[in-house]
Amino acid sequence: MEQNLIDGKAIAEKIKKELVKELADLKKMGIKPKLVSVQLGENFSASVYAKQQKKNCERFGITYEQKIFDTDIREASLLAEIGKLNLDNTVTGIILQLPLSEGIDLRMVRAGIAIGKDVEGVNPFNMGWIIYGRPFLASCTALAVKEIIESTDVSLYGKEVVVVGHSDLVGKPVALLLLDKLATVSICHIGTSEAGNLQDYVRKADVLVVAVGKPGVIPGDWIKEGAVVVDVGINRVGDKITGDVEFEKARLKASLITPVPGGVGPVTTAILLRNVLKAAKWMKKS
Ligand code: NAP
Repeated sequence: MEQNLIDGKAIAEKIKKELVKELADLKKMGIKPKLVSVQLGENFSASVYAKQQKKNCERFGITYEQKIFDTDIREASLLAEIGKLNLDNTVTGIILQLPLSEGIDLRMVRAGIAIGKDVEGVNPFNMGWIIYGRPFLASCTALAVKEIIESTDVSLYGKEVVVVGHSDLVGKPVALLLLDKLATVSICHIGTSEAGNLQDYVRKADVLVVAVGKPGVIPGDWIKEGAVVVDVGINRVGDKITGDVEFEKARLKASLITPVPGGVGPVTTAILLRNVLKAAKWMKKS
């Protein structure tokens, strides 16, 4: 890895190594983790994510099953299907692929996933534990961002942290997890951008986390000298995958920066495995 790049793959490998023993212990206790993916239709990106998750789980010794429902399924029926998975003792984790169909309330569906099987931390109960500073099953990507920053040994105490993006799954939980480290956290979003203030926030960030989904939304010359930059974005540009930050320029100013690909993505995958094991263990206990 080049000097100021954060090696997400190495962080992920370290996490996975720790999980090998955990999985062996679970199996000795007679616990067989099984993750079920819930998807509507054959959406391309959902299918790609599910395929990657399946590969990762199976390589690791976790059973992965895909349930694909019709895109015209009604919210009540989808909730009933999730209810069946909630009650199925052989299912230890549930993961919801996006997008859902129009007319289905994503938050209601997320709230329908049993809290102990909610390996993505999307149920409001699990989200609430982040506010309490005691995340149990929390957003894999948000935990990945925290893990990445912790791996740098940069203290967050009193630092200016700027999170760009305020989604339920990434921006909001990231901000809360970092707030817990007593950083001064600002959350920016489309309103900040349209008010013309985004640059001002980014310029003062000691730690910048970007989760928007728009390539180059953060020009490299906005980065503060010496900042730590965590780019969560995944964008397909032509035949390349890029992040949200203008990488080549940003890396000249950042003290540390995550590449895309090879930054947040692999760590998120490893944390998903960790959450799957946590959920399986919790199910056995309860
Ligand atoms: P999302 O739900 O679409 O949220 C994007 C956020 O960016 C929203 O809060 C949006 O605000 C804000 N935004 C949009 N345009 C903006 C602008 N010009 N300036 C400032 N903020 C702006 O997406 P997400 O699920 O959080 O994911 C964000 C990105 O991370 C995507 O590229 C996704 O593929 C990637 N991702 C990566 C991983 C990983 O493991 N590496 C995991 C999850 C997601 P409004 O909603 O108010 O418009």
